[in-house]
Amino acid sequence: MADKGHLIIISGPSGVGKGTVCDRLLKQRKSIVKSVSVTTRKPRIGEVDGVDYFFKSKRQYDELKEKGGFLETFSIYDNYYGTPAEFVEKNINSGKSVLLEIDVQGALAVKQKMPESKLIFLAPPSIEHLVQRLCKRNTEDEQSFNKRICAARTELDNKDKYDYIIINDDIDKATEEIKRIIDDITK
Ligand code: 5GP
Repeated sequence: MADKGHLIIISGPSGVGKGTVCDRLLKQRKSIVKSVSVTTRKPRIGEVDGVDYFFKSKRQYDELKEKGGFLETFSIYDNYYGTPAEFVEKNINSGKSVLLEIDVQGALAVKQKMPESKLIFLAPPSIEHLVQRLCKRNTEDEQSFNKRICAARTELDNKDKYDYIIINDDIDKATEEIKRIIDDITK
């Protein structure tokens, strides 16, 4: 039987650059697969169903949840998110490492269930940097923007619970550092 793969979780405030780092990692490390979460949030322009998220109605989401389909679930910004349990288990059991890009509470919940999982926190150099980045991204209305900044403060307060903390003051450097950490975990 193949050795089991690893579960690697990346968290960090909305707008910090997790998506970019994960995309680059996945292009360069074919033995790692990213779990696609289920969400009730509406797709942003350019987001693709089944690639960025599985976009579901609240009813579909609740049905999946009732069936025990999620490794963890979380609700933020009035939306619901969940990590599909079957995808994670199947890949890990077949020897693939799985990357989850999820929020802090979800990450800590998974760590409790699966203590061997590794948690990486991607932090902005400062809250001011994050505000600027989210402004530039321009994907949120004012209410959602404010909620994300508020949630960012809570996420940053929890960063010391992570196995690794990387400051994203340069996206290339941050990606390289995370790649090195993941290579070390999966070697
Ligand atoms: P966004 O709406 O900006 O795509 O994601 C909002 C937050 O939800 C981000 O911090 C993202 O990492 C987190 N997130 C996405 N999918 C999941 C999930 O399945 N579980 C949890 N706990 N958080 C998630």
